[in-house]
Amino acid sequence: MKLKNKVALITGASKGIGEGIAEVFAKEGANLILCARSASTKQIADTLAEKYNIKAIYVNCDVTNKADCENAVEKGMETFGQIDILVSNAGVCKLGNFLETDDNDRDFHFNVNINGSWNISQAVLPGMVKQKHGAIVIMSSVTGYMVADPGETAYATSKAALIGLTRALAREFAEDGIRVNAICPGYVDTPMAQSIAVQSDASNPESVKAGIAGATPLKRLATPQEIGDLAAFLASDESRYITGTQVVIDGGSTLPETISVGVEDEINILERKWNSSCFK
Ligand code: NAP
Repeated sequence: MKLKNKVALITGASKGIGEGIAEVFAKEGANLILCARSASTKQIADTLAEKYNIKAIYVNCDVTNKADCENAVEKGMETFGQIDILVSNAGVCKLGNFLETDDNDRDFHFNVNINGSWNISQAVLPGMVKQKHGAIVIMSSVTGYMVADPGETAYATSKAALIGLTRALAREFAEDGIRVNAICPGYVDTPMAQSIAVQSDASNPESVKAGIAGATPLKRLATPQEIGDLAAFLASDESRYITGTQVVIDGGSTLPETISVGVEDEINILERKWNSSCFK
């Protein structure tokens, strides 16, 4: 159990990737402070505590609110006396063409995705500095850092900013024994991925997901638990010499040199390339 006796605070733990991370961390022996706005997260905490014989609490926390973040850390410290790991995972994504994205839509992404990670990091770091150890895992994305599709500008900008936050924190707090790394997932099968699929084609979201899976070299979306396994590694002592990095976990989706929107199109593009004179 690579996280035995560690205490982890996880934001965005009510569903999707955050819930998957919580389950993997519980299985690895960590005690948990699960944060989100949905009160149903308490049920997740109770279930994991019983199933894996760990301690888990739920704290209501809107990451855009500094006082909520401070309260989550306070409740965690009161309960466990230490916080060894922060997973800053809470995030939002709403597609919208750039010229139609008003300041509210932009701020919606920046406030949750950027300021949320900022706020929770600022709340948790003083305790980590005091105890002279800690591991922070920030949920970025391949979107913004490596790729982007039309309609993703606000989301991509916010996720790319998290790479800067990760590297800057890693540099500033290295001497305090604190490591900071980012995870950059491709598509993960969560309510957010479902909502992106619905926003892309409300009449047939499953075909959107099937198209994404088809264009991914490993031919499927990731599961939240697979992101949890990577987060557990980055939060554990197994990664003790890794800091300031961004780890891509995307089933190879950013690998293809061709623009691939489905198997057939990919083959057509490859054939065209192969037949073109510069390849002969
Ligand atoms: P999801 O299914 O929509 O879950 C989002 C989580 O964030 C929920 O637990 C939600 O909890 C929480 N959240 C949203 N706004 C919040 C706020 N203001 N304060 C506190 N919590 C808030 O999304 P997901 O797919 O699991 O994504 C999790 C993270 O992974 C995000 O940062 C996302 O950008 C990133 N990511 C996802 C994918 C993907 O394909 N799914 C790919 C790359 C990166 P409440 O609503 O209960 O507060």
